[in-house]
Amino acid sequence: MDNTGFKRHRRLRRTESLRALVRETKLTKEDLIYPIFVVEGEGIRKEVPSMPGVHHISLEYLNDEMKELEALGIRSVIVFGVPKEKDAQGSQAYCEHGIVQQAIRQIKKNVPSLAVVADTCLCQYTDHGHCGLVENGEVLNDPSLELLVKTAVSQAEAGADIIAPSNMMDGFVAAIRKGLDEAGYSQIPIMSYAVKYASAFYGPFRDAAHSSPQFGDRKAYQMDPANRQEAIREAASDMEEGADFLIVKPALSYLDIMREVKDRFHAPLVAYNVSGEYSMIKAAAMNGWVNEQEIVMEKLTSMKRAGADLIITYFAKDVAEWLNE
Ligand SMILES: [Zn+2]
Repeated sequence: MDNTGFKRHRRLRRTESLRALVRETKLTKEDLIYPIFVVEGEGIRKEVPSMPGVHHISLEYLNDEMKELEALGIRSVIVFGVPKEKDAQGSQAYCEHGIVQQAIRQIKKNVPSLAVVADTCLCQYTDHGHCGLVENGEVLNDPSLELLVKTAVSQAEAGADIIAPSNMMDGFVAAIRKGLDEAGYSQIPIMSYAVKYASAFYGPFRDAAHSSPQFGDRKAYQMDPANRQEAIREAASDMEEGADFLIVKPALSYLDIMREVKDRFHAPLVAYNVSGEYSMIKAAAMNGWVNEQEIVMEKLTSMKRAGADLIITYFAKDVAEWLNE
């Protein structure tokens, strides 16, 4: 307090160098994980219509894409596969020569410095588009776990550095940890989609991954957006089961959940900045309604401020470029 009787907060905001000195949260290139969509087939490099700047690529374009990321200073990718053939059991998810397994082998051979995260789910591989086995219109829990374990082990065999199970079956971390350990992969960490909401923000991803459910929705296994305490229960059981990282998905509407998970559990926290969050900004920016760079930097910084250590984001390349400038 000075003789005016009030506190002068603006003292610390007066110049850019002062602001930089007192800045509490910093976004860095090391925070970013870039999602890639690898498709079966040849000569494919196709933009996802609802996600400008995001492409489906076939394997011959993968090396260039990875070299580009490496040059930008991005250290990690999460790999999603789009197979040619789908069936009720999602068998291409755990096939030795599945598209994701091939992509992982190729990345680890050509750009070994990139940390490869394998998304472990069945919905891109099942003809019904659900994340597990379906019987009488219901997604079965325990039988789906067996297939998920097979998928995780085959991804580890292919060279994945991190396994990221996303299907929201109960017990998936325990089952995968046991399966990986028994197969000799006790050193491979699990990045669990611990807190995954049944969100409308996933729409454009389902375009990208061709993974829309053919009937019903995912509300019987993904979480109700209205629930906070349930997020704590989900994160707690995943930590007990052996998760090494915790993911909160989506990010922007769930910053409160991120903060709470970060305060309660001492594990690296990952924000998944999902497709809908990306597409809305892209659409507004293309119309000239917002400044894309400023809004993206603000948004990702808010996720870090909320407690995220890492951010899975389709903006990773743009952000790395802006940070390099
Ligand atoms: Zn899924």
